[in-house]
Amino acid sequence: MSRFFSKKFAALTPYTPGEQPQDRKYIKLNTNESPFPPSPLAQRLAREQAGDLQLYSDPECRQLVRTAADRYGLDPEEFIFTNGSDDILGFAMMAFCDEDHPAVFPDITYGFYPVLAALHRIPYEEIPLKEDFTIRVEDYLGVGKTVLIANPNAPTGIPLPLADIEKIIASNPDNVVIIDEAYVDFGGESAMGLIRQYPNLLVTRTFSKARSLAGGRLGFGVGCKELIRDLNTLRFSTNPYNINRMTMMAGIGSLLDDDYYKDCCAKIVATRRKTEAALRQMGFEMTDSVANFLFVRHPSIGGRKLYEVLKEKGILVRHFETARLRDYNRISIGSEEEMKVLCETLAGILKEI
Ligand code: PMP
Repeated sequence: MSRFFSKKFAALTPYTPGEQPQDRKYIKLNTNESPFPPSPLAQRLAREQAGDLQLYSDPECRQLVRTAADRYGLDPEEFIFTNGSDDILGFAMMAFCDEDHPAVFPDITYGFYPVLAALHRIPYEEIPLKEDFTIRVEDYLGVGKTVLIANPNAPTGIPLPLADIEKIIASNPDNVVIIDEAYVDFGGESAMGLIRQYPNLLVTRTFSKARSLAGGRLGFGVGCKELIRDLNTLRFSTNPYNINRMTMMAGIGSLLDDDYYKDCCAKIVATRRKTEAALRQMGFEMTDSVANFLFVRHPSIGGRKLYEVLKEKGILVRHFETARLRDYNRISIGSEEEMKVLCETLAGILKEI
C-alpha cells in the first residue's frame, strides 16, 4: 500500500476473480464461461464497429435498450445496461444501501457482494444457508434490509422457487430486493415478470454466461422506471460510456439471434445432466444445480487436493477455501469433449488413491 492510499480503503479485501492463467493451455472450467463462441451475428456486428472506435458509444444505449425491450416485452425505461453485471450490482448497492438500509444476503453466495458492501461502506448481514445450502425463506420475510439473492445461487446452483422470491419481495415493501439472475438462463424461474407489480424489485442479468460474451462485459438491470432512473443517476455520475461500441453491437446481435443462444443453453444443460450422472456414478456428491456448473465433493479426496491434482493435469476448476465450502469444487460445464476428458481424468485420479 502506498502512503497515498486513502484510509477509507485501507482495510478493503478485494474480490479474487477466478484464475485466467497464461502459462499453458488448460481445460478451463473455473469461471463459468460458455464453451460456445458468441453468435455469428453478434460477432459480425461487433466487428463492424472497429472502424468507428474513434467515436464515443451512445451513453443511453438506445438501440440496445430498444432491442432488449422488444425481446423481453417491457418498456425501454425499465432497462439499464452496464459493464457486466458486477457493474449494475455496484450501482445497486450504492443506490439502495446505506446505514438506514443495510444489505442482507446468504453467507454462501457470490463473493462480490461483501466486497461491494465493504467498498461502499455499507453495513451488511450474512444469513447462514441451511445445512443443505438452501435458503430458509422465513429469514428474509419482513427483514427490513436491502435483500440480495442470487437465483440460482452461486456456487451451489440451487434455485429458489419464484413463489418464494415473490414472498420476500412482497414482505419488504420499504426496501429494494435485488435478484441476481446471472445463471437463470440455464434453469430456474426469472422474476423479471414481477417488476410492474413490485416497485421495490430489481432483477440483474448478464450476457457473460448463456450469451457467450464474458469478455465483452455486458449486463443489465430490469426494474420499475424510478429505480432505473436512480441507477442511471449513478451511472452518469461515474462512467456514462461504460459500454463500448463493439460490446453494445454484440449485445444487440445476441438478442436478435435468440435461437442461437437458446440452442447453446439447451446443449449446456444436456451436457450438465450427462456430467452429473457420470460424476454420481464415481461417488461424487453434489447439489442439485440448475446452472452451468456443478458443485461437487468426493468422500475420498479433499476439495483442495482435487483442485490441485486436476490443475496439474491441465484442468482448472474453482476452489473456495472457506469453512463450509472447502470440501467442494465448482466445475463449469464446458463442451461435451471437455467434460469427457474431465470425467476420464477424475476416474483416473480416483483409481490412484
Ligand atoms: N452474479 C453472479 C452470481 C456471478 O457468479 C457473476 C460472475 N462471476 C456475476 C454476477 C457477474 O458476472 P458479470 O460481471 O460477468 O456479468
